[in-house]
Amino acid sequence: MKPRTKIQHEVFRMNLNVIDIQKQIKKWTFSECNEKLGLATKTRFWCIDCGDYHPISLVKNNKAKCPNCKIELSIVQSRKRTYNQRYWVAFAELSCGDLLGEVQVIRLFEVRSNHSVNFKPHFYVVENVRQFIPEDHSKVQYVARTRNMGQGYPSGGDLEIRNVSHYHSWNYNPCPYRFHPWSQFKPKYGKIGINSGLQGLSFLESTRILNFNRNAETLLKMGQYGLFSECSNNEGKIFRYWNSIKIALRNKYKIEDSGMWLDYLDLLDFFGKDLKSPRYICPNNLKHEHDRYVQKKGEQERRIKLMEQRKKIAKEENAYRESKAPFFGLVFNKGEITIKVLESVKEFMEHGDILKHCVFANEYYKKKESLILAAYVNDQPIETVEVSLNTMEIIQSRGEHNNPSCFNSDIMSLLHSNMSKIGRIYKSLKKANQITIKA
Ligand SMILES: [Zn+2]
Repeated sequence: MKPRTKIQHEVFRMNLNVIDIQKQIKKWTFSECNEKLGLATKTRFWCIDCGDYHPISLVKNNKAKCPNCKIELSIVQSRKRTYNQRYWVAFAELSCGDLLGEVQVIRLFEVRSNHSVNFKPHFYVVENVRQFIPEDHSKVQYVARTRNMGQGYPSGGDLEIRNVSHYHSWNYNPCPYRFHPWSQFKPKYGKIGINSGLQGLSFLESTRILNFNRNAETLLKMGQYGLFSECSNNEGKIFRYWNSIKIALRNKYKIEDSGMWLDYLDLLDFFGKDLKSPRYICPNNLKHEHDRYVQKKGEQERRIKLMEQRKKIAKEENAYRESKAPFFGLVFNKGEITIKVLESVKEFMEHGDILKHCVFANEYYKKKESLILAAYVNDQPIETVEVSLNTMEIIQSRGEHNNPSCFNSDIMSLLHSNMSKIGRIYKSLKKANQITIKA
């Protein structure tokens, strides 16, 4: 939109005089910010920067130097043939106006990098937002592109003056992954540690946090940008583990991945470990220890689930036996196919696990009007069948992941030809029940 107010005219003039930085941003982003990866299968890996395949023999300790690009790649196991990166970076500079005084300008660039086997990457860096921030942060002025269909971050149209409502201000305030090292901040921000070391947090969000969170101020002064950025979404964890954080920093522990480290403290807490002991909170290999505890927690949760399942089965077993015992022992054979009635709730669970369907989870053993049978080929469960006792029809017969096996029609026809046997048992069962009820 065209500038209308006096302030907008001033922002318009400042906007014409920003530093020409696009080329440097692009060069820096590609070399310093983009991930440098090799995606590997068992025999080879491809470098996402040149798109070429190289032999797996070049890989040592999950690192390899690309023979073409001469850069070190982190090797990740993946069969992907394409890889996309998308993130924001920022550049900070200063400007001055008669009405707004000294203004902190934050420029936000969206980076898109699309990689695929056999091709050079397609790499775009587009400046989408400029924030002109006067002393009073509630009066931020925006020069930005427009939001496509009113959704997400601005990315279309020209860089123009925009009226941004409070409700939409987050759309115009994306979190940059990093600030360009030439960034310049007002001295008053520099004094409290806001400089080009900021990462994962926008300038406006950083200053907002600093207004009310004293721990955040301490972290910033200590240059702990990673932990500082966690003060936005993980504020509760920073507060809860503040003592551990202080001990780790006193021990000069270098926290490479703050999010993972806070997760790791959660895991230590879960297992009742001493959160004041550097032995636990300062692991040499964070990822290894984190993954080890994640696995341990998973195993514990599985054990608890299994125990609960066993209790549930024991409870249900008698009821199932009472309602379906007269059908037990029914076996139909033809060729390599055998069909049997499921004779315990435990068998429901086993068949559900093997064929990965919901016969146990959805408690089919409780269905009074259905009979559940299992079809085997060479003693291996191949399908599970539900027969309606009221109509003597097959309701469903399902194999792995609920799909029919290649024996589906043979199983159905074997069952059809034996349906009268099931019917006879059901009839006599009903008769017996009526007599019992009458008696
Ligand atoms: Zn390469």
